Amino acid sequence: MNYVSTRNNSIKVSSAFAIAHGISAEGGLYVPESIPKLSCEDFSKISELDYKGKAEYILKKYLSDFSDEEIAYCVNGAYTGSFDDEKPAAIAQLGNNINILELWHGPTCAFKDLALQLLPYLLTTSTKKISDGKKTVILVATSGDTGKAALEGFKDVENTEIIVFYPSEGVSPMQKLQMDSQKGNNVHVCAIKGNFDDAQTGVKKIFTDNEIKATLAENGMEFSSANSINWGRLVPQIIYYISAYCDMLSKGDDISDGFNVVVPTGNFGNILAAYYAKEMGVPVNRLICASNANRVLTDFINTGVYDRNRDFYTTMSPSMDILISSNLERMLYILSGGDDKYITELQNVLSKNGKFTVNDTVLSKLQKLFYGACCDDEGTLATIKKTFDEYGYLCDTHTAVAVNAYEQYLEATGDSRPVLIASTASPYKFAKSVISALRDNVNGSEFEIVDALSSLTNTNVPTPIAELKTATARFKDIYEKQDMYKAVCKCLKID
Ligand SMILES: *Cc1c(COP(=O)(O)O)cnc(C)c1O
Repeated sequence: MNYVSTRNNSIKVSSAFAIAHGISAEGGLYVPESIPKLSCEDFSKISELDYKGKAEYILKKYLSDFSDEEIAYCVNGAYTGSFDDEKPAAIAQLGNNINILELWHGPTCAFKDLALQLLPYLLTTSTKKISDGKKTVILVATSGDTGKAALEGFKDVENTEIIVFYPSEGVSPMQKLQMDSQKGNNVHVCAIKGNFDDAQTGVKKIFTDNEIKATLAENGMEFSSANSINWGRLVPQIIYYISAYCDMLSKGDDISDGFNVVVPTGNFGNILAAYYAKEMGVPVNRLICASNANRVLTDFINTGVYDRNRDFYTTMSPSMDILISSNLERMLYILSGGDDKYITELQNVLSKNGKFTVNDTVLSKLQKLFYGACCDDEGTLATIKKTFDEYGYLCDTHTAVAVNAYEQYLEATGDSRPVLIASTASPYKFAKSVISALRDNVNGSEFEIVDALSSLTNTNVPTPIAELKTATARFKDIYEKQDMYKAVCKCLKID
């Protein structure tokens, strides 16, 4: 299996190369040349396996340059002991039709753990295969959850340094404390004055700057990315959609006519993984792309115009406060039939004008696959309350956006197939917002609120959050957004 760049598909690389480098030199993203299909026989074998077995089975299809031993080593390292009950992707059922795929039982209580527990193993295995022992420097831009999950995944991994940038005013107090208190000898955390897109643009700029690359090489180092543009982030996410399908089958859901999938979306990584699962053979009917008030994707799916020239809202679902969804480039590459020139042109127009319009062929394929819906903070709160009152189920703000989008879809289409809703974070990660949906008085410290939420809803505080109570902040630096490279040099002690 080879990987090609979305902006120049004559560039063909191995999966190890794609994972080690993260992004192609001309700025394109790596995509597999073709999507492997699973037969009925494959599915019946997969359904017999536990999560780790499923992961190995699926990774072998994509990482053909890894040996079976290497894949087993990576999977065991990632998924042994790091998730509650060894169940990284459990389903909670609400009523007859709604399946909530709880992806937040890992060390940082957000779905990114599923990919970021595995990525360090995939990455170090990849660099061993292709590089000359250079130290890998992981640069991460985060809107909150990626940063912490990457720090947990990469802490004290040999021959790596990890530097995380987050928007100082754009993450929740809990997310901030999670990152600022991170332990480990190779970890660095920097706040910047700006929003998530500033952080992401800054990281991309540093990545593609040849002078900076040369400076790093002189110091025996090399950049890589743990952001969801790295194929090593995406491929682990395909696994849980296949696992969820097997679980729905085994609990007897009637999915003879397929099922719908709803994903609360920011960078378009998680929903793209669901698309890959569909193409591999999971009977997904429609992919419902849920956005918060930053509704750039909803508008895009409805009109074919992607326009980031709009107000940026800081919402109570901060991990979706994004105006440039990087992984959309992969989807558009596929929908354009692999037209790298077209994708290059769209991306150039996007960086010049902040918007692009796709052609009718791409738009009609897009609309056939996806349904876009969004809700603001008010809708988010109402959905948290309604879901709790109706089902006794407590969801976080991101998941609530997805539930709300699903209700809109149901209302608009009457399509009552079973649905799988990706639940991307523990409600305790956003306790203040969540409790404000359920009662008026939300005063108190972050941890008083956590305890109040627990007694009000009779649910347990996840251990990683309970443990933060006694954590102290190690990292305090705040940088101007144009000083991100300076921050990198300071962290790596180079000049
Ligand atoms: C990252 C994140 C999202 C968005 O996922 P994408 O893959 O960027 O679309 C949604 N919810 C939570 C809690 C997240 O951390």
